[in-house]
Amino acid sequence: MIKHQYDVVIVGAGGAGLRAALEIPEGFSCAVLSKVFPTRSHTGAAQGGIGASLGNEEEDSWEWHMFDTVKGSDYLGDQDAIEIMAKDAVRAIIELEHMGMPFSRTPEGKIAQRKFGGHTRPEDPNDPDSKRIAVKRSCYSADRTGHVMLHTLYENCIKQKVHFFSEFFVTDLVMSGKSCAGVVAMDIATNEIHVFHAKAVMLATGGYGRVFRITSNAHVGTGDGFSFVYNNGLPLQDMEFVQFHPTGLWKLGILISEAARGEGGILLNNKGERFMERYAPTVKDLAPRDMVSRAIITEIREGRGFKGSDGTSYVQLDVSHLPKEVLNDKLPEITGFARTYLGVEPTKEPIPVQPTAHYAMGGIPTTVDAEVTRDKKGTKVTGLYAAGEAACVSVHGSNRLGTNSLLDLIVFGRRGGKAIAKFIKDAEFPPLPEDAADRTIARIDTLMNSKGKEKVGALRTELQEKMMEKVGVFRNEKDLTEMTAEIKSLRERYKEVSIDDKGKIFNTDLMEALELGNLIDTAEPIIHGALVRQESRGAHSREDFPNRDDKKWLKHTLIYKTDGKPKIDLKPVSITRFQPKERKY
Ligand SMILES: Cc1cc2nc3c(=O)[nH]c(=O)nc-3n(C[C@H](O)[C@H](O)[C@H](O)COP(=O)(O)OP(=O)(O)OC[C@H]3O[C@@H](n4cnc5c(N)ncnc54)[C@H](O)[C@@H]3O)c2cc1C
Repeated sequence: MIKHQYDVVIVGAGGAGLRAALEIPEGFSCAVLSKVFPTRSHTGAAQGGIGASLGNEEEDSWEWHMFDTVKGSDYLGDQDAIEIMAKDAVRAIIELEHMGMPFSRTPEGKIAQRKFGGHTRPEDPNDPDSKRIAVKRSCYSADRTGHVMLHTLYENCIKQKVHFFSEFFVTDLVMSGKSCAGVVAMDIATNEIHVFHAKAVMLATGGYGRVFRITSNAHVGTGDGFSFVYNNGLPLQDMEFVQFHPTGLWKLGILISEAARGEGGILLNNKGERFMERYAPTVKDLAPRDMVSRAIITEIREGRGFKGSDGTSYVQLDVSHLPKEVLNDKLPEITGFARTYLGVEPTKEPIPVQPTAHYAMGGIPTTVDAEVTRDKKGTKVTGLYAAGEAACVSVHGSNRLGTNSLLDLIVFGRRGGKAIAKFIKDAEFPPLPEDAADRTIARIDTLMNSKGKEKVGALRTELQEKMMEKVGVFRNEKDLTEMTAEIKSLRERYKEVSIDDKGKIFNTDLMEALELGNLIDTAEPIIHGALVRQESRGAHSREDFPNRDDKKWLKHTLIYKTDGKPKIDLKPVSITRFQPKERKY
C-alpha cells in the first residue's frame, strides 16, 4: 500500500472537479484523481451549450433565467441556490472566455447564443405576465461545447500545476470519526492500492447513466461517488429524479443534443404530425425534457411511433429542412453521429430517436458552497465536499433544463473550491485510521479469488434492462415493488461474481466488477425513492399518482442505506421568490 498526503484531494476531472482545483491557492497541495484521462471525462461529451442571460442576441435577464429554472424543476429546486447560479452565470461565462474558451460568435463577434428547452422570456419584455416564448440563452461552441470547456479548464489546471493522478480508480472514502480524512484508490495500471490522506476531499464523480440500458452517458458513468457516500452512512438526496433526454439515437442512446431543436429541428410521429404542438402549444418542441420524453413514450404507446426491424419503437427528429450551413457549422457532430451509427443522412431524412437516460438530478446533498450535509437540518460533514452532477445543491429539482449542468459545474465547482481554500488554511489533517484501506482490500481479494458462477456482463445487462423497463419514464407501484425485490436479489447474486482476468496489469475485468457494485448501490436509492414518492413531479412520473402533490411532496427525499430497507427522511425546499404554480408551456 502506498500512502500520500495532500491538503486537497478532488475525485473527478470533469468540469466540476477541474473548476474547483483552480481555486486552491499556491502553497497548498492539490491532487485530482480520475479513473480516465482527465479530458476523457463526460463533460467533454456535452454538446449543446451553457446557459447564461448574456442577452447577446435578444433581451434577457437573470431573473427570467431563475424563473425558468425554478419552473423547469417543477418547484423542487432550492430557490436560494438557483438565484446564486442564475446571477453568477454571466460572470462565469466571461471568466471562461478569459481562460481561453473558444465560443461560437455572432457576426459582430459577441458570444453566440441559441434557444434551448424550457428557457423563455416574456413576449413583451415590459410585461412580465405576457406569454413566455423561447429565448436564445445557450452559449455554445458548435455542438462541442463541453469538449472545448473541458480542454480549457484542463489547460488552466496544467498552468497552475495541479497534480493529476490519471487512471486511478477511487474505491472508498476514508472517514475519521465524523470527518472525511481522504480516499482509497487503485492504480488501474498495476492494481496497487493507494491511500490519499487529505484535509479536504471533493467528490466530482459525475452521474450514473449506466444504471440504465439506453443512456447517453459514457461508460465511466457508473455512479461511483454516490456509492461511496451511501456506503459510509451518509444520505443521498432526490435520487428518484432521473432525466431521460428525449432524443437519443434509436437503440444506442447516443445523444442528439437539444440544440438540434433549438436550431429549428422538429419531432414527428408516424402520421407525420409535429406532435409536440398538442403537448406544449406555446414552446412546442422546446418544452422541457421531462415533458418531451413523456410525449414521445405516449405517442409510441398509442400506436403513433415507428417500429424498427428489431421490434423496438422510435419517433423521428427532422432537421432536413434546416439550411446546410446550420447543420455543418452549428451541428456537425450530431449529424455525423446519425450518419456513422445509423446510416441516416440527416440533410435528407429524419433521424430515428428515443428517450435515453441522461442526467442525475439527485445526488450527494450539499450547501450552496458544495459542503456535503448529513441530515435534514443540513449538518455539515467536516472535510467533505461534492460538486457537479454527483452533487444535489439542488438547482435542478425534479427536472434539469438543458445548459444548466455545465453552468452548475463552473458556478458550484468554483464556490466549492473557494470554500475548501478557506477551510484548509486553519484545518489540521484529521487522524488517518489504520484500517483505511481494509474494506477495499477485502473487496478486491474476494473478487480476485471468487469461483462464483455469476458474470459481470450478464448481471449488469440484467440490471440495466430491468431499470429501463420498470424505473423508466413512467413508473408505478407494482413495477417499483418488483424492482425492490430484484435489486435485493442482484445484490445477493453480486456476491457470487467471479472474474476471468487474475492479472495485475490494467485489469479492466476487476474494474468493471467494482463498477457493477457501484451501479447496484446507486440503483437501490433510485428505486426506493421512486416507490416512496407518491406523486408525479418533473421527471418522476407515477401512473398511479398522476398529479403533483405539493401538500405532501414539496420536499426533498434523503435516503440512507441500512441492512434492510433503506431509510427515508424528508427535507424542506427553499422557496424565496416564486410560489409553486401549475406548470404549463
Ligand atoms: C452526451 C451528453 C451531452 C451533454 N450536453 C450538455 C450540454 O450541452 N449542456 C449542459 O449543461 N449539460 C450537458 N450534459 C450534462 C453535463 O455534461 C454533465 O452533467 C456534466 O458534464 C458532468 O460533469 P461532472 O464534472 O460532474 O462530471 P464528469 O464530467 O462526468 O466527470 C466525472 C469524473 O469523475 C471521475 N470518476 C468517476 N468515478 C471515479 C472513480 N471511482 N475514481 C476516480 N475517478 C472517478 C471520472 O474519471 C471523471 O473525471 C451532457 C451530458 C451528456 C452525457
